[in-house]
Amino acid sequence: MRVSRLMLVTLRDVPAEAEITSHQLLLRGGFIRRVGSGIYAYLPLMWKVLQRITSIVREEMNRAGGLETLLPQLHPSELWKRSGRWQGYTAGEGIMFHLEDRQGRELGLGPTHEEVITTLAGEMLRSYRQLPVNLYQIQTKFRDEIRPRFGLMRGREFIMKDAYSFHADEADLQATYAEMDQAYRRVFQRCGLEAVPVDADSGAIGGAASQEFMVTAEAGEDLILISDDGHYAANQEKAVSRASDAVAIDAAPQSDAPSIVATPGQASINAVCASQGWHPSQLVKVLLLIARLEDGSDQPLLVTLRGDQELNPVKLANAVSRRVEQGVLDCRPITAEDLGRQGVDALPLGYIGPDLDDGLLARASSWPQRFLRLADSTATDLDWFHCGANAMDQHRSHCRWSDFGGAPEADDLRNARAGERCLHNPSATLQEKRGIEVGHIFQLGRKYSQALDACFTNENGRDEPFWMGCYGIGVSRLAQAAVEQHHDEAGICWPAAIAPFEAIVVIANIQDDTQTQLGEALYASLQQANVDVLLDDRKERAGVKFKDADLIGIPWRIVIGRDAAEGLVELVRRSDRSVEKLPHAIAIEKLLSSLRP
Ligand code: ATP
Ligand code: MG
Repeated sequence: MRVSRLMLVTLRDVPAEAEITSHQLLLRGGFIRRVGSGIYAYLPLMWKVLQRITSIVREEMNRAGGLETLLPQLHPSELWKRSGRWQGYTAGEGIMFHLEDRQGRELGLGPTHEEVITTLAGEMLRSYRQLPVNLYQIQTKFRDEIRPRFGLMRGREFIMKDAYSFHADEADLQATYAEMDQAYRRVFQRCGLEAVPVDADSGAIGGAASQEFMVTAEAGEDLILISDDGHYAANQEKAVSRASDAVAIDAAPQSDAPSIVATPGQASINAVCASQGWHPSQLVKVLLLIARLEDGSDQPLLVTLRGDQELNPVKLANAVSRRVEQGVLDCRPITAEDLGRQGVDALPLGYIGPDLDDGLLARASSWPQRFLRLADSTATDLDWFHCGANAMDQHRSHCRWSDFGGAPEADDLRNARAGERCLHNPSATLQEKRGIEVGHIFQLGRKYSQALDACFTNENGRDEPFWMGCYGIGVSRLAQAAVEQHHDEAGICWPAAIAPFEAIVVIANIQDDTQTQLGEALYASLQQANVDVLLDDRKERAGVKFKDADLIGIPWRIVIGRDAAEGLVELVRRSDRSVEKLPHAIAIEKLLSSLRP
């Protein structure tokens, strides 16, 4: 391909719309253009990268026994109503684009395909003899993300490889899951990416295993915790650790009852600790939240944590899910407006204790009249603690759980943090890194097959729902993550396996016949050797061409310049910008042997 015919439009300046380096470089290098919020055109250079990634993904999926298929992107709402996800995915902060057709029927644009594929499997796979089956597709997905950003990292239209496996029993699901884990490791390694597998949240489905693959990078949206002995890594959404010990309360209480302490204007942990000389780990803090449930109802929550701990929203949502009938959409703090709307009296926010009376909810117009009470084990483990007195400007010091009729049931609701000791090995500590989630594999179990009544006949002639796994790779996100991991100040350094071209021949001065002739000859011989090669034949200054070649990140560059008359060329490796001046035949030989070792 000739650069003059490539529609290459590169930008010198950093586009204002792009915050992170990989997004800036893809825009500047003419790989992508923004069409709308979270909507991008993949220009020819990008499309080549995406196709190379896709073919690696396809090879590895086929090798793992996958069958490629292509499912519709328009999903009739009935399927999603049957699984119980229509409401949650379309109402409120739901991420499914949805529409009505000319007959007034509701449709959604596929954000994921469990409903479609499980229904098909239920219709087609009747007997255990047909199992296992592992189907995959590579396709555009649609998600109306709340915060589309960072270019291809979080688009509203993006390319995903999604796979779904169907099994007669759990052991068979586990075997395929392990095989997909290996396939994923090969995909990322072949794409030239360093991706760390981490334990991931299994969400409302509970119990089943789930693992994410994280490309470690500063720009990552996920926080991951990795033990320094290398044996444990988890997304913070899921990570567990030993909390630091609480600072013991040393002053012996005068009486059995907690004493009331006046704490005017000390509604925060920091303020009350500063003025009372308490340590945050000696306090029990109580948060009031609202859980939004899938059926559209709300459940007020009263969540108790040790004062020095942070609430983990994912662990909280899971703990609520285990206690209510419907799925949980999200949890958020209760506001004064919520209380006003419900007709509930103002609460002493900042001074609430774990024994806040349910009676306060008696007048609530639509909420249930009881708090769902949850507590983190760091709080329930405390022998003595201080807490709010459920009255403005007052705390209680030296409380015991027996003062409140016993400690509440304990959950793990807190964030694990860097520096904390590991559960598996107390002498190992956790370290924090940021990560970009490029893949996710999941043992779904029977949640969808049960909901959608997708059954097969087992060996004993009885009908039972399939065991299912699902496996995603964010193909377009992966491409950008590769740039985030492989670039320098001059531009992108594509890993050879996914680069848009393998080599670029740059004719420094197109006016010079000797240079042009040698350049054309080398271009032709590389093409003959099946090298995917670019020829920069533009009438631009040499400096411009070199800058562009660096920016678009082709792994090898052959420069035909002043020494063309002596048959000498420069062979430049993009990754370390090392330069060798060589006779042209030797340069070609070296290039070929490094491309096809
Ligand atoms: P995230 O937590 O980043 O929103 P997710 O967990 O919702 O992602 P999955 O449903 O597991 O995503 O989708 C499989 C893969 O698709 C993810 O691992 C990720 O690489 C990719 N992906 C998900 N959402 C987007 C998006 N909005 N833009 C680009 N890629 C995405
Ligand atoms: Mg995921």
